[in-house]
Amino acid sequence: MPDLKLNKRGYIVAEEETGMTSKRGVFAGGDIVTGAATVISAMGAGRKVARAINEYLKWKYWDTSNFIR
Ligand SMILES: Cc1cc2nc3c(=O)[nH]c(=O)nc-3n(C[C@H](O)[C@H](O)[C@H](O)COP(=O)(O)OP(=O)(O)OC[C@H]3O[C@@H](n4cnc5c(N)ncnc54)[C@H](O)[C@@H]3O)c2cc1C
Repeated sequence: MPDLKLNKRGYIVAEEETGMTSKRGVFAGGDIVTGAATVISAMGAGRKVARAINEYLKWKYWDTSNFIR
């Protein structure tokens, strides 16, 4: 996806607690963010990101300045 910031290993840069990426309204979690990991960690990310998506849909708040420069 154009405009989506990747790290040097080619994975999507996303804020750990929310899954917010460099593109407004796009969230990511799981192996595409961490690299190959486990089902448990992907499920944990899915849970956090689902909560963050719900908040975003309610408030439309988007600030990635603390982790994307
Ligand atoms: C062979 C193997 C064995 C494993 N064994 C274990 C194990 O025993 N225990 C364990 O905890 N973990 C295991 N893992 C790791 C585990 O499978 C992953 O960590 C976990 O599945 C990651 O979940 P995810 O949702 O991030 O990604 P995925 O499960 O990879 O899901 C990504 C999904 O996105 C889809 N997709 C990709 N590109 C697109 C696109 N352009 N458009 C739409 N959809 C797309 C894919 O088809 C896929 O369904 C194993 C992995 C492998 C490869």
